[in-house]
Amino acid sequence: MGGTRSSSSAVVRDAGIADNNRSGTKSVSRKEAGSGGVQLTLDSPVRYVPGIGPKLSEALARYLNVRTVRDLLYLVPARYVDRSQWWTIAQVRQLARKNTGEAVQFLARVVQRRLIPLGKRRKQTVLEVVVEDEEGRRLSLFWLHATMWYYKKMVVGSWWIVHGKPTYFLSRPAILHPDLTDPKERAEGLQTVYALPRTLVRRGLSLRRLKQIYQTIFDRLLPPDRIPDPLPAWIRQERNLLPLGVALKNLHFPTSSEAFTEAMRRLKYDELFSLQIVLVQEKLLRQRTQKGIAIPHSGNLIHRFYRERLSFALTDDQKKAVHEIYQDFRRGVPMRRLLQGDVGSGKTVVALLSALLMVDHGYQVCLMAPTEVLAYQHWQKWRAWLHGLRTSDGSAIQVHLLTGSVRGTRRRQLLQMLKDGNIHILIGTHALIEDPVQFARLGYVIIDEQHRFGVLQRARLVFKNEALTPHVLVMSATPIPRTLALTIYGDLDVSVLKTLPPGRKPVKTFHLYESHREEAYRFIRQELNRGRQAYIVFPLIEESETMDYANLEEGIRRIEAFFGKDYPFVVLHGRMKPEEKQEAMDAFTSGKAPLMVATNVIEVGVDVPRATTIVIESAERFGLAQLHQLRGRVCRSSDQPYCFLVTARRLSADALKRIQAMLTTTDGFELAELDLQLRGPGELLGVQQSGMINLRFASLVHDQQLLQDARKDAIRLLQEDYLLRRYPALRKAIRDVWGDRLPLGKVG
Ligand code: ADP
Ligand code: MG
Repeated sequence: MGGTRSSSSAVVRDAGIADNNRSGTKSVSRKEAGSGGVQLTLDSPVRYVPGIGPKLSEALARYLNVRTVRDLLYLVPARYVDRSQWWTIAQVRQLARKNTGEAVQFLARVVQRRLIPLGKRRKQTVLEVVVEDEEGRRLSLFWLHATMWYYKKMVVGSWWIVHGKPTYFLSRPAILHPDLTDPKERAEGLQTVYALPRTLVRRGLSLRRLKQIYQTIFDRLLPPDRIPDPLPAWIRQERNLLPLGVALKNLHFPTSSEAFTEAMRRLKYDELFSLQIVLVQEKLLRQRTQKGIAIPHSGNLIHRFYRERLSFALTDDQKKAVHEIYQDFRRGVPMRRLLQGDVGSGKTVVALLSALLMVDHGYQVCLMAPTEVLAYQHWQKWRAWLHGLRTSDGSAIQVHLLTGSVRGTRRRQLLQMLKDGNIHILIGTHALIEDPVQFARLGYVIIDEQHRFGVLQRARLVFKNEALTPHVLVMSATPIPRTLALTIYGDLDVSVLKTLPPGRKPVKTFHLYESHREEAYRFIRQELNRGRQAYIVFPLIEESETMDYANLEEGIRRIEAFFGKDYPFVVLHGRMKPEEKQEAMDAFTSGKAPLMVATNVIEVGVDVPRATTIVIESAERFGLAQLHQLRGRVCRSSDQPYCFLVTARRLSADALKRIQAMLTTTDGFELAELDLQLRGPGELLGVQQSGMINLRFASLVHDQQLLQDARKDAIRLLQEDYLLRRYPALRKAIRDVWGDRLPLGKVG
């Protein structure tokens, strides 16, 4: 090996830098693999590793999606454990009582095993295995799944190294789903643990075998210093990151917990950095290569609207946002802008002002809202606002509503008008992009209350195919934590409305138990007497719809009894027909019915400034973002707003945290950060399925600083070389890391 070694490492290093020498390296590896396998690269198939035969390599591909040496090395250990420390069962039982979450390890023998039927129809079976240590103390181990598999494995009399977190289960100190190691395989020091599917274990890939494979790779086939590092050296130095090879080795063979942390930091950085490269590159590519519609910042329409129709002065933030949008229009670069502003900050008028500029220059505008109720409300408002106004070429502005409930002849008519260019502004729900309609000259797409990732994703695809790339504005009131914004919207420009319109008073929030809800009702009665309006909201969560409706009906009876005939109210919920919903909205907006009883259909967007009080029933069942949105319904004028959170007496710890958060702050961003911590990013944005935030190493909650560093570096690098022409290895690495998980398109 000695003789070939220096020359072969040169080959590998070159291949890493020249990048596209892929097939060449492969054929070398195949040859060499036969004669002792010196020439392994990250791209070599795993079967070139001695000890991985065709059967195992097939199983690795099938169950772990591991095909190359790279895939194998990037298998993240589920955790590492300190095998130098041992506990007695007596100590473990103590810890179980304290429930500290600390992991333990001890040696014990199986003395008893039994299957316990549980659940309503005793359908579920739990496996309990009682083990005993050398001191004769006993502890229960439990398995809730794969019970038979473990039953067979846990033969009475057999010895195991048991590893896990002590807790209480079925009223006894226990460990749920412990890790087991055969005492023969006992290892010392820091040991990594991998989550291997049982099928793989059955096919002979024990933890020990996996470790041996890693050992062979790092010792003989691909030592750390021969793993090429695609990250530009200046970044590595500046951010104080381990070389890739060292990080990979330390990941699998950590010498200390710090070494493991540092290895993880390097891999997290890579992941975040490559994602940011993709996002920032997308933005630069768009700006440098795509031609959008260019229109000057001129025309009478906006000035007339401003003078004659707008009853208030814009806030500085609103002016700035409008200006930023106009700049994009003028430059003719297809705009992709996020307008972020807390509930009630006045995003709609920014959208309208920018829409008017487009309309005045002969382009059509499409405004999409997440619900029919909100689309309808926008339509009502915009129609009233624009009534009688004409564009510079003299035509009266046509604003139309197209939702799922517009059908038949009317729908055909609308679609024809749209195609002929006789509709200036089309308002609809997000469904418009599911079943795209045809415009004559679509210039501008506005997506309101966008906090579902899929919508934007889809809009990107759909509107790419328009003859002219339209400008896109996304409006979001869900104040997205900065890290998420940088990830989800990393390719967008951002305008922010920080200040609320003048005179807004912070909402006063109270927490009441259900038994005291009448206090809130009495308060509402007072407010109604002063000409104000109010909402009472009930949760409607899909899984328990029937129960929720029963709940709502009972609530309505209570409200009827309390408010009587003097205070007419309307009901609004998802099961009503669209016309019924519109009727209810109209009655409430006009003030004919001063009180609205609703489910969370009013969660987003609804804007009735006279409504100043909201009572949220079963508030513990709402998420933080929802609560904040709901509370935002009453922060739309200079009157003092009030919010009552009504809950049951017994609250879960998380629910209590949410209620407390609502009582202590009205700041949407603060609440969003908290929400991120309580729920995690996937659920927060409804992107669980999208694969978008499918990060393997990094966490959007815990690695915020690293993310910001990575983004800064990505911008710096791309500004200097936005196609990464001088960094082919990096380009390839990004493809390798993200592959088809790339959120947007492909890397160039
Ligand atoms: P959101 O940002 O939540 O969509 P809206 O655009 O619905 O908020 O605005 C909330 C309310 O504030 C609306 O009734 C709107 O007319 C009003 N509004 C918007 N901008 C101003 C302003 N600069 N001064 C006073 N009221 C404003
Ligand atoms: Mg809005």
